[in-house]
Amino acid sequence: MNVPSDHRDLGRAMNIFTSSPLVGSGLPLWLPGGAVMRQELEQLARDVARMDGCEPVYSPVLGKRSLYERSGHWEKFADDMFPPLDDGSEDPLVLRPANCPHHAQVYAATPRSYRDLPIRYHEVGAMFRAERSGVVTGMSRVRQINLDDTHVFARPDQVGDEVERALASVLRVFDLLALEVDHVRLSGCDDSNRWLGHPGQWAGAEEQLASVLKDMAPAAGLPWHHAPGEAAFYGPKIDVQVASPNGHEETLATVQLDFNQPDRFGLEFVTADGGRERPVMIHRGTVGAMERIVAFLLEAHDGRVPFWLAPVQVCLLPVSDDRDIEQAVEAARTELEASGLRVRVESDGSLGNRIRLARGRRDALQAVIGPAESRAGQITVTDLAEGARASLNVTEFVSRAAQAAESRALRVALTSA
Ligand SMILES: [Zn+2]
Repeated sequence: MNVPSDHRDLGRAMNIFTSSPLVGSGLPLWLPGGAVMRQELEQLARDVARMDGCEPVYSPVLGKRSLYERSGHWEKFADDMFPPLDDGSEDPLVLRPANCPHHAQVYAATPRSYRDLPIRYHEVGAMFRAERSGVVTGMSRVRQINLDDTHVFARPDQVGDEVERALASVLRVFDLLALEVDHVRLSGCDDSNRWLGHPGQWAGAEEQLASVLKDMAPAAGLPWHHAPGEAAFYGPKIDVQVASPNGHEETLATVQLDFNQPDRFGLEFVTADGGRERPVMIHRGTVGAMERIVAFLLEAHDGRVPFWLAPVQVCLLPVSDDRDIEQAVEAARTELEASGLRVRVESDGSLGNRIRLARGRRDALQAVIGPAESRAGQITVTDLAEGARASLNVTEFVSRAAQAAESRALRVALTSA
């Protein structure tokens, strides 16, 4: 019983995703349970981005090959990209391997002054990886990645503050997801030729990231270390590492410094004395890739994800098909749904069997209505993750559950006064 569950088994039990040989491997189809989780996670990503001063943008999943030649992806990342579409042109379209080149072009569309910076663009955007079919698995390794992605264009003197802001948001998000950060990695370059740009710039950028970590990590109780060779090809990064129940280490969120793409795209801003300077680009994610975070959350919580994320938040279980009970269940369903909660009524078969189904689906709360409850306007609610059970007035329960969902709480307070 102590073997950690695989997200593929949980995904099946919880109606999260499926795949089809006709669609292809590494291309999961999001089922309603998974789509609900993804919508909640995307909304969290957008809320955090907005609170951090980011502006939303949308950009296409395709770009001309020359865009990626300019960005450096073609030189350093082509092995992970799908071949260009054969559209008969000299400069064919390719599926994008990253969103940054598009966001750089949004920045470049308007002249910028030092007073405009920092400018922060946020998008939950799709990007593509030419993974071989042998290595793709479930949701954790896929060919289309839907990434919570922000690019900040900052003056060099703003970099420290921006990195700090990004890291603080990552930690806040992990808290809401009830995930524990194992440690933080300062991922730099090594002696190989995989990196763009000059060693001096790399050293300076790594120094900037290290000084933020020296400031923040002790107060946040985060151990951190250098990891040479783990950087992005365009710059060093801070990786937030978590440990999965089966002992694997994974990167769920990153903050990356990039001097290369601003240079290669000729990005600039007008300085106070009328000169021109390059902005620094900071790539940051908080929730990260939708596929990876959902796979990780399922395994880390054995499917019992925080209440606000649960595909089914309340499973209503009438004790019998007595008319009064059915009416009480319908009334409770209407009240729960009107408060924005995700409800399922399970009425076919024996009560024991229905409870087992709800448990297998990892429904967050099981709510039983029998004759006593229907007479008293009450509901008996069980939270298996907490081992808690309480009988409450229906309206009181709905209000507590709605409050928990609204505040993105881990669990509903069933027993507190
Ligand atoms: Zn980027």
